[in-house]
Parts: sequence; structure tokens; C-alpha cells
Amino acid sequence: MRVVVIGSGVIGTTTAYYLSRAGHEVVVLDRQTGPALETSFANAGQISPSLPAPWAGPGMPLKSIGLMTQRFAPLVIRARLDPEQLKFLWRMYTNCNAAAYERNKARMLRVAMYSRDKFGELRAETGIRYDDGQHGTLEIYRTQKQMDAAAGDLAGMAQAGIPHRLLDRQGCIAVEPALAAVADKIVGGLHMPADETGDCFLFTNRLSELAAAAGVEFRFNTEVRGLATAGDTVTGVDTAAGRVSGDAYVVAAGSYSTPLLRALGLELPVFPVKGYSITVPVTDAARAPVSTLIDETYKAAITRLGGRIRVGGTAELTGFDLRLRDERRATVEFVLQDLFPGAGDPAQGSFWCGLRPMTPDGTPVIGPTRLRGLYLNTGHGTFGWTMSVGSAALLADLISGRTPDIDAADLALSRYGR
Ligand SMILES: Cc1cc2nc3c(=O)[nH]c(=O)nc-3n(C[C@H](O)[C@H](O)[C@H](O)COP(=O)(O)OP(=O)(O)OC[C@H]3O[C@@H](n4cnc5c(N)ncnc54)[C@H](O)[C@@H]3O)c2cc1C
Repeated sequence: MRVVVIGSGVIGTTTAYYLSRAGHEVVVLDRQTGPALETSFANAGQISPSLPAPWAGPGMPLKSIGLMTQRFAPLVIRARLDPEQLKFLWRMYTNCNAAAYERNKARMLRVAMYSRDKFGELRAETGIRYDDGQHGTLEIYRTQKQMDAAAGDLAGMAQAGIPHRLLDRQGCIAVEPALAAVADKIVGGLHMPADETGDCFLFTNRLSELAAAAGVEFRFNTEVRGLATAGDTVTGVDTAAGRVSGDAYVVAAGSYSTPLLRALGLELPVFPVKGYSITVPVTDAARAPVSTLIDETYKAAITRLGGRIRVGGTAELTGFDLRLRDERRATVEFVLQDLFPGAGDPAQGSFWCGLRPMTPDGTPVIGPTRLRGLYLNTGHGTFGWTMSVGSAALLADLISGRTPDIDAADLALSRYGR
């Protein structure tokens, strides 16, 4: 089969790799000059199958007010007369109950755990390296209230088979020795030793090289204008350079998947949620993190990537606006300096923002659509890097007519009843 993939972020590239491995001829189209130049460029670097959980949960509407009003607010909702934003918020709100939360979390975990297994297999098969580390995630708590809330989640983690340890202050320092310098700021933490870290941009680029060597054709500088249909069948992808045809089509265009599908009459509830990161060179390794540390108060992740530290955070609802805002830089710089003072030099930092392709239920949209030949792999939100390899392997199986290793029926667009 000839498969056309739209998007060469981490999702499109992994999809192309697994489709090629399944024996298909694959063409990847992307408007950028190379792979992973949009949201997959400088994310926080966590591959964290222990953590995926939907934002929409019981009590979230009230919690959001606290998050929006605190110092260095991790959540920003810009009041805009945008029907898509209002629709997204409403759909999220309808998922803010215990039953929906449990269902959505179980779906996310299923994909993330499968992805963890596939990451390991991929590394073993290809030897791919990407400033990767396998040293776990430490979520740190600055208040007893946060510790108590974490303790309440432990039974669920054990049930889901997620290795974890609730640690006191000294336990946190044993995992991340540089925290000794700021010990008085921490009450304790939760260590998830099975989590991994890595540079998503490096990974995607190296995987695209492996895919290209296996015969995948990457066409960059190719803006997709729309998809062509005949009846209920997709017949091609229209680009500035003409129509590209295949037997199957995968939309993996991140947040931009939504407008592409709208033109076909398909309503995909994926909305951009902007996040920011700063990447700084390590100036004193003894003061730097070893792996990923999450600051629960500021909802920011700090990850060691070889000789660099990356700090990512903030959820900003502001549509497709990619402006870099100074006040957001102040947030990520603050978190770094507050927990790892002297570890890196923010003045030499590169500041970046990207648009998380979020669904209101937190789960990605993976699978076929009601249009023949059209498949989706998008909506991975906060955990696209974590879920990428599993999502791709799963979709490649579906397109190849094979039964996937994990249940996939409730991941498709049809779960929204459209
Ligand atoms: C600040 C921040 C921190 C994050 N941290 C983490 C983390 O630590 N761990 C984690 O698992 N996830 C994290 N994420 C989420 C993760 O980065 C995303 O879920 C993931 O990168 C999405 O990948 P994608 O391939 O779907 O989208 P993208 O990387 O955006 O790829 C989409 C591609 O489609 C192309 N495209 C779009 N429209 C068109 C068109 N019309 N024509 C041609 N090409 C088109 C784009 O050029 C782009 O290359 C973070 C995100 C942010 C913003």
C-alpha cells in the first residue's frame, strides 16, 4: 500500500517509520524545512508513562482558578471571542467528573505503557540515541497538602502497575542530589523510576534518517492545502506542488489537524494549548538535575538532556498565537533558579513555545475515520512524546489490517459520536 502521512513531528515521523517497517510505501509531507520543527521541537523531554492523566477531572474548574491566579501562574486562559475555544472549554468541563476521568486516564495509560514497551524495543533494534536517559521522574511537593494528595493516588498507581515510591525530603535528595541546596523548600516527592527522558527533536530527526534509509520519502517545504475526496473516499492531498495520491492517508498535523479535517466535514475536537520552554547549557553539573523533576506547585518539568537543562511549562489558551511572552520566560527561569540555582545559565538560554494538540478528554485520536482511506494520529496534548512510538505502532497495525497489541476501538474519532 502507498500511504501519505501529513506532518513530520514526532507523531508523523514515528508513524512513517512503523508503516515502512510493515512493508508500505510511505510519503511524508510537511511545510517545514525538516522534521520536528513545530511542537516536537523543544518539549520538556519527559517520556513519562507513569504520569499521563487528563486535565479534566473532578474539581478542575475550581482548581483552575487557583492555578490562574497564583504567582507564576501555570494556567492562562486569554478571554477571546473564539467559538472554538469556548467549545473546547465546554467539552473539557463535561469531562470533569469521576467516571469520565477514570475512563480517560485508563485510555491514556494504555497508550503510554504500550509506548514505553515500544520505545525499549526500538532502542534495542536500532541503537537510536537522543540525549536519552532512563533514570525516572521525581515529582516534588512543596506543601504537606500536595504530599497527602499524592499519597491518595498510590493505590491507583499500584493497580496500574506503575513502579513508584513516596519519598521524604532526604529520599528526594538521594534521587536528585542537587536538591540538597534547597532542601527547606521541599516536603517530599514521588519517584517513578521507570520513566525516561530524551530530546524529542533529536529522536525525531534520527528516526527520520532511519526511515528515509528504509525508503520513506520526506517532502519538506510542502504546505498541505486540503484533502480531496470522491464520495466518502479520500483520493489525494492537495499541496502547492500538486496532488499527492495514495491508498491511505494519515493526518498527523498536530493542532493544525483540526482545520484540515473541518474542510472535510469532520469535527476533530483538538485545540492548541500553548506551552513554553527554556533550554540552558549546564554550567555546574553538581548543581544540575540528573533526570526529570516536576515541580507540582508551578506545574513545570525540569529535565537534564546531556549537557543541557530544559524547563517546560505553562498551559495558555490563546489559539494559534505563537508569540513568545516575556512573563512566561520569567516563570520557567524562576523554576530553574529556585530549585537548581547555579546549575545553568539562563542568559544563554533559548526560549521557545509550542502548541500542544489537546483533546478535551486528554486521550489522543488514533484510528480510522468515516471517510475511507483516512486515518488520524493526533491530539496527544501534554504527552505526545511519551505516547508517540506506541501510537505509531498501533496505527501501522490498524492500517495494515493486523490486530493491534492493545485495544484501539475507543481511541478513534468515533468515540465522540461523530
Ligand atoms: C512546552 C511543552 C512541553 C511539553 N513537554 C512534553 C513532555 O515532556 N513529554 C511529552 O510526552 N510531551 C510533551 N509535550 C507535548 C508534545 O511535545 C506534543 O504532544 C507532540 O510534540 C505533538 O507532536 P505532533 O507530531 O502531533 O505535532 P507537531 O510536532 O506540531 O507536528 C505536526 C507537523 O505537522 C506539520 N503541519 C501542520 N499543518 C501542516 C500543513 N497544512 N501542511 C504541511 N505540514 C503541516 C507541521 O509543520 C509539523 O511538523 C510538550 C509540549 C509543549 C508545548
